[in-house]
Amino acid sequence: MRKWIVAGNWKMHNNIAESIALAKAIKEGASDFKGGTIVLAPPFTALFSVSEAIKGSNVLLAAQNMYYEDKGAFTGEISPVMLKDIGCSYVIIGHSERRKYFHEQDNDVNLKVKKALTVGLTPIMCVGETDEEREKGVTQDVVDKQVRQGLSSVDKIDDVVIAYEPVWAIGTGKVATPAQAQDVHAFIRGILKDLYGSTANDIRILYGGSVTKDNIGDLIAMEDIDGALVGGASLKADGFLGIIENISGKK
Ligand code: PEP
Repeated sequence: MRKWIVAGNWKMHNNIAESIALAKAIKEGASDFKGGTIVLAPPFTALFSVSEAIKGSNVLLAAQNMYYEDKGAFTGEISPVMLKDIGCSYVIIGHSERRKYFHEQDNDVNLKVKKALTVGLTPIMCVGETDEEREKGVTQDVVDKQVRQGLSSVDKIDDVVIAYEPVWAIGTGKVATPAQAQDVHAFIRGILKDLYGSTANDIRILYGGSVTKDNIGDLIAMEDIDGALVGGASLKADGFLGIIENISGKK
């Protein structure tokens, strides 16, 4: 039985004081919600403070990116070992903004997913098509390539979380319909079954793209949607807690 996850991606928002305040407010509200996983991904500069703020609670810490080496001459990069050291248990990998602005390729995503697993970080691997790709009718081709290449030679699949995030829905207010999202989630689960057999039934697939507390109820009712990766609506405690409230107990 798959358990829900709600992850908040704060992107490049919040200074240290703002991050601590938001993390504390979420931590207080989150104590009511059991049975699933709540994850916060602040910017790198606030990881340590948020790590301290959520200590002893049911809220876990994620980074928004990492490099695929333990250490070395890689100016500006952050290693997965450093992320573990600061208290992270999750890491977002291959977010569409990383793919778009920083030219991350499926091969980079694959190296990062494999490296995260070797140090005991749970990767949240993001996939999803652009507006143009959906218009052209190649959504399945795009997602198929991203999933297969991202997971190439990955054995510990039970420790991976996939996030389906249609790029046209991220930060646009244009959420996928539950049916559109379910179609792609079921397609992804089919690829996972092809690669990993029945273990695919245990892998959590999150939906991301303009999720709010008002639209999550219909999305989470879909068979293959196991939670949400939330951007904008994770920046206010009540909005984020509202999403968790509408998910918890449903999966
Ligand atoms: C995201 O950044 O992963 C995301 C889904 O953003 P938003 O919820 O703002 O669309």
